[in-house]
Amino acid sequence: MKPLIGITCSEEADGSRVYLNGNYVEAITAAGGLPLLLPALEDLTADFFETVDGIVFSGGDDVDPVYFDEEPRPGLGAIYPGRDAFEIKLARTAMAARKPVLGICRGFQVLNIAAGGAAYQDFAALPGTHLKHVQQAPRWYPTHSIKIETESHLAKALGTTAVRVNSFHHQAVSRLAPEFIVTARASDGVIEAVESGQGFILGVQFHPEEMWRRDEKFLNIFKLLVDAARKP
Ligand code: MN
Repeated sequence: MKPLIGITCSEEADGSRVYLNGNYVEAITAAGGLPLLLPALEDLTADFFETVDGIVFSGGDDVDPVYFDEEPRPGLGAIYPGRDAFEIKLARTAMAARKPVLGICRGFQVLNIAAGGAAYQDFAALPGTHLKHVQQAPRWYPTHSIKIETESHLAKALGTTAVRVNSFHHQAVSRLAPEFIVTARASDGVIEAVESGQGFILGVQFHPEEMWRRDEKFLNIFKLLVDAARKP
């Protein structure tokens, strides 16, 4: 039996459409998992949690800063209350139970915030010199480098500690959740990956689902998740 991997979805504000970039589905399938799309139905969080063997928290819009005790700043983008509530609850449930999770871009922020961390609502507005993290290039194309800690899930997946990645984010980790460790940074110091020391909990700020067809080592990130989710 293939591990069943839940993938959270985007939705229209009025609920008229629930959707997901097909690259996530294809990456999980190529990695040997059975994908299951998870609509943001907060009342069913426990049912989804019990059903799946692992979870991908997908990319999307900004997380409501109310979840890290901040008022909204002018640079904050669109927020989707139903998705936020569902994903924060699901992330807390999964991480408490050490169910394998992979957070990508928004999903990476969701994991950190759910575990007690915080995000810059729009870090491009901060003083200081930053790289261009909202690239204007094809989605698969890596535009900035990251340095990866040797002892990490990410280094194990990619087989290297120096790699170039794509970048589509205006938010970044401002306060790391207590249980997390930073396992990759861009050259401007922006946190590009975090992990927990226990179990398989990995968050990446870039989008490996857009990259693996061109560079197969990025599929290994999904393979590690699927392998961690495999029942003994
Ligand atoms: Mn970046």
